[in-house]
Amino acid sequence: MALRFHNTLTRSLEEFVPLHEGRVTLYTCGPTVYDFAHIGNFRTYLWEDLLRRHLEFRGFQVRQVMNLTDVDDKTIAGALKAGVALDDYTRRFVDAFFQDLDTLGIQRAAEYPRATRHVTEMVALVERLRAGGHLYESKGSLYFRIDTFPRYGRLSGLDPDSAAAGQARIDADEYDKDNPRDFAVWKERKGDEPFWDTALGQGRPGWHLECSVMSMQYLGETIDIHTGGVDNVFPHHENEIAQSEAATGRPFVRYWLHAAHLIVDGEKMSKSRGNFFTLRDLLDRGYQPRPIRYLLLSAHYRKQLNFTFDGLAQAVASLSRLDDLADRLARESLRETPAGALSGAAAEAGARFLEAMDNDLNAAAALGHLFELVREANTALDAGRAGLADAAAVREVLGRFEAIFGLRLGPQRSIDAAIEELIARRQAARATRDFKEADRLRDELAAQGILLEDTPHGVRWKRRGA
Ligand SMILES: [Zn+2]
Repeated sequence: MALRFHNTLTRSLEEFVPLHEGRVTLYTCGPTVYDFAHIGNFRTYLWEDLLRRHLEFRGFQVRQVMNLTDVDDKTIAGALKAGVALDDYTRRFVDAFFQDLDTLGIQRAAEYPRATRHVTEMVALVERLRAGGHLYESKGSLYFRIDTFPRYGRLSGLDPDSAAAGQARIDADEYDKDNPRDFAVWKERKGDEPFWDTALGQGRPGWHLECSVMSMQYLGETIDIHTGGVDNVFPHHENEIAQSEAATGRPFVRYWLHAAHLIVDGEKMSKSRGNFFTLRDLLDRGYQPRPIRYLLLSAHYRKQLNFTFDGLAQAVASLSRLDDLADRLARESLRETPAGALSGAAAEAGARFLEAMDNDLNAAAALGHLFELVREANTALDAGRAGLADAAAVREVLGRFEAIFGLRLGPQRSIDAAIEELIARRQAARATRDFKEADRLRDELAAQGILLEDTPHGVRWKRRGA
């Protein structure tokens, strides 16, 4: 069966055929670096990683670009409040974002262009749109007149009349769908806000502009796939389409894919409810990255994911069942018998696993087929009905899971062993009087919640709060 994705633009499942055979251009809207990313953000980034890994598994060469929004209403507000320069304010969150990507095993994109480093290119697009009669000026800012772009509203399913009616203007980067407005592509310098001195005057770009510019600059005027969270559909992606297609007269994106929200304990995540978690919050509570990754990938991406700590505990259990089976297959001494019933079951489960992934990345169904096989394999191993050929067939299916879900299976090195190793390295650094390295290692341990105590009998360690 062919690879199919649900295209938000057509609201239907479509066979995926890239513009150029064997190659896929993928643009993924990145973080606004004004705070640490939360687990709802990571649900989207992890799903995009799954999408890319599945495409790669299917033999496509994927070129992925993800922008970093380092100038917008939120980053500016954060920097002004902290009383520091914008770049100094965002640096910390850019660094944290990359650390978090590594923690979760998310593959790096080919490029991470930053808005503040592409102002010249954004000004060029604004000038092109102005020359095409799509913009007007009001109080020094430039607005996109949405009734100059008849397809406005197609992605989000806006009522064309209400969209065309958009006589009013809006300066805010984010606003809601009940209120389609002419939106700012260039904002005039205001108060203490950072600004750029450009051919358009002193000011800064509107948020939506950066993704149009970066997608076209790094991937071409028409790309294969553009993704984001469902909250990006309007106004962000709608505005991206208007800016890009009004300028080029060509389709901007062929397949639009959007991930549903993550909720916590059945409720919208919010700081005031106390159910708001960054990745770091979960690590501080002692959870490991693997089950977090597994849990956030285990539901179908177009279904709301309800995050609970019970769910996380189940993810730990599911992963250890997979680890145990991988370990058994490697460790048990099996006979060289011809392929038996288990090989047949593995071939079928492996095919179904891929079919489910090909069917709009139905991860939940794919995992269902995988665990069916886990049961059968354990039963066959228990009964001595599995030989080497069977084990290899099962291992091959586990390998598909590892490649596509980005999780390595088998015995995991214990956390304690990893801590002991860091402590040993710190002792070695101290022995060679490399105190800088010793302090760095102590800080690294502290970041994992491990406290050290130097005693006459050596170093003792304990977990913070334990
Ligand atoms: Zn974007």
